[in-house]
Amino acid sequence: MLLSDIKGLGAKRIADLSKAGMQTPEDLILHFPFKYVDITKSIDVLKLVEGEEICFLGEVCTSVETKFIKRGLFYTKVSFKSGGAILPATFFNQRFIANKLIMGAKFYVNGKVKKFKNTVSISAPTLTDYSESDQKIMPIYRPIKGVPIKVLIQSIKSIMSSITVNSYLTPSIINENNLLELNTALQNIHFPPSITVANESLKSIITEKLANNLCMYNVLKKHGQSTRSHKYNEKNIDKISKFISGFEYKLTGDQQKAITEIISDLNKSKDNINVLLEGDVGSGKTIVAFTLLYYSVLSGFQGTLMAPTELLAKQHYNSAVKIFKNTGVRIGFLSSSLSAKDKAESIKNIKNGSVDIVIGTHSLIQKNVEFKNLSLVITDEQHRFGVSQRASLENKSKSADKIVMSATPIPRTLALTLYGELKKISIKQKPPKKASITTKKVRAEKVDDMYKYLLAKCSQGEQAFVVCPRIDDEDDTLESVEQVYANLKKMFMPYGIACIHGKIKDSEKDVIMSEFSSGKIKVLIATTVVEVGIDIKNATSMVILNAERYGLSQLHQLRGRVGRGSIDSFCFVLSDNDSSDTKSRLDYFCSNDDGFMLSEYDFKVRGAGDLLGTRQHGDTGIKVDADLIKKAKAIACELEKLDYIKNHYINGVSEQNVTFIKALTLN
Ligand code: ADP
Ligand code: MG
Repeated sequence: MLLSDIKGLGAKRIADLSKAGMQTPEDLILHFPFKYVDITKSIDVLKLVEGEEICFLGEVCTSVETKFIKRGLFYTKVSFKSGGAILPATFFNQRFIANKLIMGAKFYVNGKVKKFKNTVSISAPTLTDYSESDQKIMPIYRPIKGVPIKVLIQSIKSIMSSITVNSYLTPSIINENNLLELNTALQNIHFPPSITVANESLKSIITEKLANNLCMYNVLKKHGQSTRSHKYNEKNIDKISKFISGFEYKLTGDQQKAITEIISDLNKSKDNINVLLEGDVGSGKTIVAFTLLYYSVLSGFQGTLMAPTELLAKQHYNSAVKIFKNTGVRIGFLSSSLSAKDKAESIKNIKNGSVDIVIGTHSLIQKNVEFKNLSLVITDEQHRFGVSQRASLENKSKSADKIVMSATPIPRTLALTLYGELKKISIKQKPPKKASITTKKVRAEKVDDMYKYLLAKCSQGEQAFVVCPRIDDEDDTLESVEQVYANLKKMFMPYGIACIHGKIKDSEKDVIMSEFSSGKIKVLIATTVVEVGIDIKNATSMVILNAERYGLSQLHQLRGRVGRGSIDSFCFVLSDNDSSDTKSRLDYFCSNDDGFMLSEYDFKVRGAGDLLGTRQHGDTGIKVDADLIKKAKAIACELEKLDYIKNHYINGVSEQNVTFIKALTLN
């Protein structure tokens, strides 16, 4: 079945779906609702609780009022009628919302309850177009630009009625673990008989998906373990010491220890090594990676460092060029942003061995890339890579030694499950800090003062990040980067201001980043593309808008982008979400600078969704907690024993198998 077989999906809509990342019918049925509304239930205004998130079917019953509060801040007010209740709602900084709010228009309104004295209102809601239906429970989907909700639901219905999704779990595994048949679960999720059943179904699918991932890691790991054909030359230790003594700083004890320990493993281990190198933001993992790569080059092999983003790969490449300047080591670079000609050249050099260390993005694991004699693969921030990328990496580098670097300390419970036998080396010490970082919550009425502060800092030559949330398939939030940019442009123009996000062309991104890096641009409005690794010494302010949307580990990563030089720095967190959960999370963040503690906290409060990439399901309120993980792990062990799983995974996780796994596992 193809998308084009579905009634109602023409070329234009298929293109729009594709833009939102959906190419196949499977993709469509995996576009889960993030919320359900029981439209038979009417709202009792008196029972609403401050901070509670509610979703209801509402009809616009007043005219719209828009007010400018101050620069960069305005709101739009309107009231919705729902059953017998009238609920006022306030939207902030939504330029186009007034066009939609026509008297009598119906929407599913999703937002937080705000109580002030005796009035109740809904703060910053999101709207979903109403569609006629005989269902009592309405699933609420994230909007897809160009595809009306009615069409989406109709398409899902027609797909569900014409294909069967096969679970790879056996009936006995399903029964023993109280799970639902995949097909049934999907049906319940899109056409829920009740909210409880929908949530149970979601939980079942999340468990199944996690079990599959865990099983896959295990199988790949066992399979990947092979006897090494390459042997390192221990005599080169002296050269390593000399290399280290040439750095402009002294390594911390933990950095030194990590290097010594891993080199000793490389020398001694019969099988290839698999190490998780974990260290908080700014603990100096990169230099450790370079030193280890050098060790492999000294023995006559190639090594590679793979980063999850273009920006980070470029930065690593530039640092490597500097650090290896007088060593004769040849550094290569590969990413999808290279021109076809440069790419071909780079691939050729990798294959014939005219480069020793290759730095790049996941382009490095594509089929057409072949190394001459790869011995060491280091992956930075690996949790950002998808399962299929990891699979092809494992496959590509079967006999190579592998090091995974992570700045998101993984909670212990989770690490044991995810990485099991993987050896973990932690860099706990941080290099001596020359600058302090102070974290502050900023209230709406202080926003202007904050921007004035940034302006003053810029006039002294310092730089700032302003981070806005972006949710991939939600176009109106993407605009917020551009909106904030539009609001601040005039003010910061004299000092240079630019915006950067995932939809900007790579070549443009490069220009912006290098201008920011050189100081020509002082203020960078960005999405979380700046989250990992970016290292700019002069950046001293980090402003995070809608901070409630991020996990604490992610916030910590963002904060780690400032205070990297010798100037004291600030991280400002903004949120118009007043729920007590958000408050205590953000307070905890402000008073805590330990990445390990932050990730434990998040794991307890939010579950592991952020870390496992199941966040989109996490939005539904289903927590990937220790129990769920335990269950998934048990299932994974059962699965591993099944022949067909082994066959699918082990016979080279070919492109085709990855797609198969994807279809099967909702990944
Ligand atoms: P992360 O572990 O977050 O990847 P980086 O490797 O980017 O951290 O290092 C952060 C910064 O600290 C870099 O600017 C790096 O040059 C610097 N650095 C690394 N090790 C040391 C050290 N031992 N002493 C001083 N500065 C260091
Ligand atoms: Mg890093």
